[in-house]
Amino acid sequence: MNLAAPILEIVGLHKSYEGNTVLRGIDLRVRTGQLICVIGPSGSGKSTMLRCCNRLEEPSAGQIVVDGVDIMHARTDLNAVRQQIGMVFQQFNLYPHLSVLGNVMLALKKVQKHSHAEAEARARRALEQVGMLEKAAAYPGQLSGGQQQRVGIARGIALQPKVMLFDEPTSALDPELVGSVLQVMRQLREAGMTMLVVTHEMAFARAAADRVVFMDGGVIVEEGPPEQIFGDPQQARTKAFVARYA
Ligand code: ADP
Ligand code: MG
Repeated sequence: MNLAAPILEIVGLHKSYEGNTVLRGIDLRVRTGQLICVIGPSGSGKSTMLRCCNRLEEPSAGQIVVDGVDIMHARTDLNAVRQQIGMVFQQFNLYPHLSVLGNVMLALKKVQKHSHAEAEARARRALEQVGMLEKAAAYPGQLSGGQQQRVGIARGIALQPKVMLFDEPTSALDPELVGSVLQVMRQLREAGMTMLVVTHEMAFARAAADRVVFMDGGVIVEEGPPEQIFGDPQQARTKAFVARYA
């Protein structure tokens, strides 16, 4: 594997909804093993950018290149793409009638076509990584929000994606539950997972990110190491935004 090559490359990404332009030319490279945090005001296009990366939204223009493959190509197998790009949402969307183990096993069996035994082994390993193995038999309704989100992360990493996208993974959680989820994300980073994380947790972005991207009005206003974005922002809009969290 070429560690210097970007595993995810966003090139000239534009997105409009019925004449309303939301993304105005986004260029971003995520390299293997990096944790990139995306910050910015509500409505700046952060979720749209993430959703374009696995074509939950269709870009209006631009390229999304995953491990050297342009997923905008007409012949792209979207099912295969979505196994390579895991996504964790603000709402965990676990199936309430399935156990924790059943939730994590589902795509391993239905999408990746593993045998029951292999799916279970992979699901258990993923649950162990997020510290939820002892809750394998529990149902989502019996778990805290933080525990449910860790199961949501396990469901994503169990498929062994090349990159994981997180869209405000802690925004729906009570404050005391946020830390455990962020801790799991730090551990994933240490285990080598490549992650693109939209977050309002500025302390997390500052401490854990390799690079921070500040978006506003559908463009990347500034990107750089956390020390720059939080300590020495170069753009007035970045300065104003981070000042609100200082
Ligand atoms: P963020 O995640 O930074 O808050 P979003 O990507 O959710 O921003 O939204 C950016 C803009 O795109 C907003 O103005 C929003 O209203 C608009 N938007 C998002 N999704 C849709 C959609 N499905 N249809 C029309 N407009 C949308
Ligand atoms: Mg959003």
